[in-house]
Amino acid sequence: MDLYGLIHERYILSSKGLHKMRNKFLNGTFGGCPRVLCERQLVVPIAMSEDLSISRVKIFCPRCEEVYVPRIRFVDIDGAYFGCSFPNIFFQTFPELLPTDKQNKYIPKIYGFRLYGMPGSKYEKNINEQENRSKSESNK
Ligand SMILES: [Zn+2]
Repeated sequence: MDLYGLIHERYILSSKGLHKMRNKFLNGTFGGCPRVLCERQLVVPIAMSEDLSISRVKIFCPRCEEVYVPRIRFVDIDGAYFGCSFPNIFFQTFPELLPTDKQNKYIPKIYGFRLYGMPGSKYEKNINEQENRSKSESNK
């Protein structure tokens, strides 16, 4: 079984294998992104390690560019059967499959007002980075 898996990893990176994976991707075989703001963007399988028996297969969403644990259907498959490079080679081969619309970001708000300076807010982090950048530019 392990030998089959390693051959499978090589096969899906071949031209014929990539086209088969493209059909599976378009048919939604690998499922959709569990993130609400990705609106069920189709995903591809990815490994966290090239070695066998290290981690099970995960799914990669090209919209949010995040990795998730898949639904029960694929949980028992070894990640090494797909490899860490698969999504990157797949989307370089088929760039037309990448989502063209921008990623929807969640912005924390209270009664419609964005949260400034609150711990845990990504928005706060971006503002701090912009301030630091403008400070370091003015110091030059
Ligand atoms: Zn996503």
